[in-house]
Amino acid sequence: MQESLEAIGEALTENGKVVVTGCLGVKKELIKDVHPSVLAITGPHDTPAVMRAVHAYFGKMRPQPHNPYVDLVPPQGIKLTPAHYAYLKISEGCNHRCTFCIIPSMRGDLVSRPIAEVMLEAENLVKAGVKELLVISQDTSAYGVDVKYRTGFVGGRPMKTRMVDLCQALGQLGIWVRLHYVYPYPHVDEVIPLMAEGKILPYLDVPFQHAAPRILKLMKRPASAEKVLERIRAWRASCPEIAIRSTFIVGFPGETEADFSLLLQFLEQAQLDRVGCFAYSPVDGAAANDLPDAVPAALKEERRARFMAAQEKISAVKLQAKIGRTVEVLVDEPGTGRSKADAPEIDGVVRFRGGEAGRFAKVLINRADEHDLYGELQ
Ligand code: SF4
Repeated sequence: MQESLEAIGEALTENGKVVVTGCLGVKKELIKDVHPSVLAITGPHDTPAVMRAVHAYFGKMRPQPHNPYVDLVPPQGIKLTPAHYAYLKISEGCNHRCTFCIIPSMRGDLVSRPIAEVMLEAENLVKAGVKELLVISQDTSAYGVDVKYRTGFVGGRPMKTRMVDLCQALGQLGIWVRLHYVYPYPHVDEVIPLMAEGKILPYLDVPFQHAAPRILKLMKRPASAEKVLERIRAWRASCPEIAIRSTFIVGFPGETEADFSLLLQFLEQAQLDRVGCFAYSPVDGAAANDLPDAVPAALKEERRARFMAAQEKISAVKLQAKIGRTVEVLVDEPGTGRSKADAPEIDGVVRFRGGEAGRFAKVLINRADEHDLYGELQ
């Protein structure tokens, strides 16, 4: 919250004319108190209200059909990532009710974007030079559940609003396609063969959050650790190259040392490739705030450090095993690229001399640490 308010302040200083939109927009009074000079405040997805505000203040800037000769803004819109990768948001909202999360109360239940619209955006991004699409949402594997997997038309051909169908179609665009925030529903197994065939990246970002049954129940997460381990084994059997990423919360209210040990045990057994870990912090309005037995801050931090130390060992061994191999990378900037196992900003990188941003390259790996690989451009 504080960060968002600071960002609004910075935008006001830089530009002076600011419309606030998104989740924070539901706290209108708070924003007005701190920044009385913002032009308008709207809630999430309220495009009409944003457009009304824009029209009211910038009357001449009415949207016109795209004119390639005069428009500076490309038809696919402006994105804030480098030119060679882009996030593709396929839905908004979530049907789960994890007790630590307030997204459903702010953004509502799952609303999937029509498949034709998603594919059009993906194709336009590829035409604009994007080499990697990062598929995101609050719950990627639930794509289409809200519209009962309705059939849409893409290039005149019928296509279901469904994650597997979407992955198949994206897999034909000839670029890297990376899946994020995949809840481990059974049908996720169907995308693993697409990874094994090289259609989409062998990378799965599945937020497990915890492994102790008691804590998962308190979090209202339906998964069970044994089943998850079985699934991971099966995914690796059908696509040995797969990199599995996950995030976890430690120090959730009621987490005992025994629960935490179960989590460390799971980590050891799962041998995940990439892991993020947060010490639990209460969010205004989250149901978990009413749970008893809060874990003291120092203990939460200590558990986070122990968890990360355990994962660093696992990661170091996994990365060491890549020494001597030649890996394909997408160069983010000269000297730094990412392999198929590395999502931008959250995973490690591959370092080398040279290279051109936005190009694919091959790197022979000769060194590794806990997070990154190092090598020679081939
Ligand atoms: S944590 Fe993720 S799955 Fe759970 S309610 Fe929030 S958005 Fe949904």
